[in-house]
Amino acid sequence: MSKDKQGIDRRAFNRLMLSSMAVTGIANKAAATAEAPHIAVIGAGIVGSSIAYNLVKQGARVTLIDRSTVGGGTSHGTFAWINATWAKQPRHYHRFNQLGIEAWYRLQEELSLPLKWGGSLEWFNSETRQQRLADDIAEQQQWDEPARMIDVIEATGLEPNAHFGEAEQVAYSPRDGAVDARFASQRMVKAAERLGLTLFENCDVNGVTTAGNGQSVLKTTRGDIEVDKYVIATGADPEATIALAGVDIPQRSTPGVIVITEPLPKMLNTIFVAPGVHVHQRLDGRIVLGEQDGAPNTAAHKQRLASYPTQFPSDDIAQEHAKRLLDTARLFLPSLGRDVVVEEVVIGWRPLPLDGHPVIGPSPALPNSYIAIMHSGVSLAPIVGEMVSDELMNASSRPELALYRASRGFQRIKRY
Ligand SMILES: Cc1cc2nc3c(=O)[nH]c(=O)nc-3n(C[C@H](O)[C@H](O)[C@H](O)COP(=O)(O)OP(=O)(O)OC[C@H]3O[C@@H](n4cnc5c(N)ncnc54)[C@H](O)[C@@H]3O)c2cc1C
Repeated sequence: MSKDKQGIDRRAFNRLMLSSMAVTGIANKAAATAEAPHIAVIGAGIVGSSIAYNLVKQGARVTLIDRSTVGGGTSHGTFAWINATWAKQPRHYHRFNQLGIEAWYRLQEELSLPLKWGGSLEWFNSETRQQRLADDIAEQQQWDEPARMIDVIEATGLEPNAHFGEAEQVAYSPRDGAVDARFASQRMVKAAERLGLTLFENCDVNGVTTAGNGQSVLKTTRGDIEVDKYVIATGADPEATIALAGVDIPQRSTPGVIVITEPLPKMLNTIFVAPGVHVHQRLDGRIVLGEQDGAPNTAAHKQRLASYPTQFPSDDIAQEHAKRLLDTARLFLPSLGRDVVVEEVVIGWRPLPLDGHPVIGPSPALPNSYIAIMHSGVSLAPIVGEMVSDELMNASSRPELALYRASRGFQRIKRY
């Protein structure tokens, strides 16, 4: 048996390493060579983590930088529903989200991710809104989505613990799922680190200059980092693209409250989108609740939100929000008992370009820079990682991304 000085059985160690890489499906990918391009990804949310992971798989030398921790931004304060629903308009954006679902299946297999599949059930209280939903579902069918309106008997078969109020019909989208987006980000980053990714957490990137050799120099709180290219995956922060890509992406970010409970016995199979509340149960038993409407449109609220807070003013206020969402959810899910323990109440800010569509592509203003800012970043992260790494490593121009470039005109369209 070949043992080294520390007494480690080298062959057994190598076998172990290979088997752990095979689990992640990345054993055949070569680690980056010294000549490989050095690419920084700024922002380690679900979008940046996916881009970094795919770049490393393609042989780039990657430095991933976050001012906080991996998946600690909006990718923690998100409902994380993976979908291509009626809200994804028009057809090209719907198709992009369909590609997102398919990419999640690939990623799940590659990294053994605990994804919750089971489809979604959705309905509204108002008759007109319900009729529009039925029309939208008919359109979905034209767009190759196996969604359909089902009656409450069938819906109760799918969700035996739920009440459907006055609804006679609900929309069922069988391909939908949900993920713990922070966990998935961490899993991608760990897999990428095994292939040589360098991670800097608690590191702010606050500027960029161009070096004489044409490289870009990122000014960070840990010093300068010279790179061939860099990706700005900084989420909802509107200042970041101005400072780092020379482009003002018009955004209308909105906040949302997410409540996460302690692990509970299984009570939900689907992503359950009832009037006023969204609920799903992760595979670990935790219930995740999100709200359908945003913050109230009052002057006091507007003032409080002007500074994009990610913390509640007090724990009491956080608990009030949790109670509000839980009370609404209990109207439809009575098994969600009054004694349920809330583990977290999180404020998430949606990265939301004005027209509701992603911004993906090179900055028209600064060399070497590439922007990846979007809503539905959870649904889209795996496909965005695959396509962006292809564009950056192979100098390709993906036709699927042509409508999402930063140089387009931004109309104000309310989609979320
Ligand atoms: C309430 C709510 C519900 C949502 N529900 C869904 C849903 O059901 N399905 C769905 O698909 N999408 C949903 N979204 C949207 C989705 O969560 C986001 O699109 C996605 O999380 C964005 O990921 P990201 O990686 O771009 O941003 P983030 O997760 O915010 O990551 C950006 C990272 O960049 C870092 N950063 C920023 N600036 C700098 C800098 N200068 N230097 C270094 N680091 C920096 C931040 O620290 C952060 O970690 C929801 C959003 C919210 C708020």
